[in-house]
Amino acid sequence: WKDNEYIESLVAELKANGTNVVVGSFDKLINWGRSNSIWPLTFATSCCGIEFVSLGAARFDMARFGWEVARSSPRQADFIMVAGTIVHRMAPVLRRLYDQLAEPKYVIATGACAVSGGPFKKSYHVVMGVDKIIPVDVYLPGCPPRPEAMIYAIMQLSRKMKVERFFGGVNRKEKQQEFLESHP
Ligand code: SF4
Repeated sequence: WKDNEYIESLVAELKANGTNVVVGSFDKLINWGRSNSIWPLTFATSCCGIEFVSLGAARFDMARFGWEVARSSPRQADFIMVAGTIVHRMAPVLRRLYDQLAEPKYVIATGACAVSGGPFKKSYHVVMGVDKIIPVDVYLPGCPPRPEAMIYAIMQLSRKMKVERFFGGVNRKEKQQEFLESHP
């Protein structure tokens, strides 16, 4: 998987033609830009969040992918990294933050708690997976998942973005709306 494959092919075409005009897919160009600058909204409620924090430090260095701009405001983020246990009282907050994300928006359920309730299975106070509240794009198991696994999960999200179509493709928004209406 070559990250800049598409742009490299355009540059090669330019060099080969000796002109400054190339014909390419607008979708691919947009997706290349988006997938290399995915900004997370941090939503760390417990232990998995501590692992997420380490992504920003030198050892894991998520800045090399262009994902380092972790935001505290949903208005400035592309996806929610739900990292931690979500209790029922927290559920409306998560849903509200999701609603406030700008389109197109994505969700990664990080860790066993966010995926399915984790070690709190059958407890009365924990939501058994954030997909009971918001649509999830990538599920990342583990208790907690290692930072390398978190990087891998964001890479999977990046891959999904790369094959999306803006014009005439599957309408993500409609699908998300369908989900939200069926999970009031
Ligand atoms: Fe903590 Fe494990 Fe739940 Fe992550 S999955 S929040 S490490 S209990």
